[in-house]
Amino acid sequence: MKKLSETVGIPLATTHVGKYPRPSWYDYDFEDRSPSEVQAHDSTILEQYSDAVKAVFKDQELLGLDILSDGCFRYDEKGFLAEWWVNGFCRMGGLKRWITKPDGDTVIKSVITPECWKEVMSHYPNSHTSPSPPWQWPFWYTVEDEILPGKLDGLVEFYNLTKSFSTKPIKFSIADVILGGYTLVDRYYHDDRETLFALAKVFNRMLTDLATSGCPIIQLDWSLAGLHHVANKTKVRPEVWNEMIELFNEEVKGVNAQVWIHFCFGRLGDSLGLNCAETFKHIADCRADVIQIEAANTRGRFLKDELTNWKEHCPDKEIGLGIVSPYNLNSERPEQAAELIMTALQFVEAERLVLTTDEGFRINRTRSQEKLKTLVEAASIARKSG
Ligand SMILES: [Zn+2]
Repeated sequence: MKKLSETVGIPLATTHVGKYPRPSWYDYDFEDRSPSEVQAHDSTILEQYSDAVKAVFKDQELLGLDILSDGCFRYDEKGFLAEWWVNGFCRMGGLKRWITKPDGDTVIKSVITPECWKEVMSHYPNSHTSPSPPWQWPFWYTVEDEILPGKLDGLVEFYNLTKSFSTKPIKFSIADVILGGYTLVDRYYHDDRETLFALAKVFNRMLTDLATSGCPIIQLDWSLAGLHHVANKTKVRPEVWNEMIELFNEEVKGVNAQVWIHFCFGRLGDSLGLNCAETFKHIADCRADVIQIEAANTRGRFLKDELTNWKEHCPDKEIGLGIVSPYNLNSERPEQAAELIMTALQFVEAERLVLTTDEGFRINRTRSQEKLKTLVEAASIARKSG
């Protein structure tokens, strides 16, 4: 396991989830193209992309963040590939893309048990039918042949392009590939578990390459197929947790970087009372180094329960804490955000606690900067209080 003391070495280090508003002049979407493919046709695109990442790194440095993110500008803003969980899929070999759902069950359905499936679908009522608001699958995939890396190395190319743009540690975030199982119908392996492991193995190769390229921190979004979303509403059977943990461990096996999991609940998390207290009871064997949970959206009302369970069940892992909300346009005061840190410090040492946003930014750049300013000021208040 890699500790925060090794990767950043700053008590109450600061960062954000990953997605950051683009500079207004940067409007290129890579879709499933890799940087080298794009470069062969038009070199100005990589120049724009690089300048956009440099601009966002500079924003974060000036605001005083300790760990930077590339803003996920490799994700698309418009069109079919906009949704973050398909960014791995659109590059993999052996898969075919569909606009409407192909016949057959998705590979995750038989694995997560009927109770979980029902709960997941109650949260996302439109996800199993045709794409329709408010929750859209932009497309579906079928497994037509052996799952191969295809153009996944494109993601490593993005990291290699940007890693020299700052001397601060860079966190590379990407949706966990198993989450894509909700959009995937198998027509090749004839065994859902085997299909999911094939995904995990291919993804592992890409993550290994990313770490070998020097990426110190890799964040996987919504690992364990998003079970955190249903765990405190539905009894997730131990064998389902075990299966998902086995898949996760396959994904990160031998990856020489600090591995984070980002858990979040979206805009409705607060009103639905969702939190990670139950999840912490089940993830001790999962080989993640940092678990990131949100506290700002819920004003910390579940934090003590969550961290009590963390301490009892998986204290070896370190904690990432969301202390500003990316949804709420009324900025939190630094003192409010600092209170969340002080609560967490009752359970976690400052060296083992990293501060972040609840979620990636979907507000404009100026407001995002204000939020990060609040985050850094809150860290400063908490460091002085400690
Ligand atoms: Zn999120």
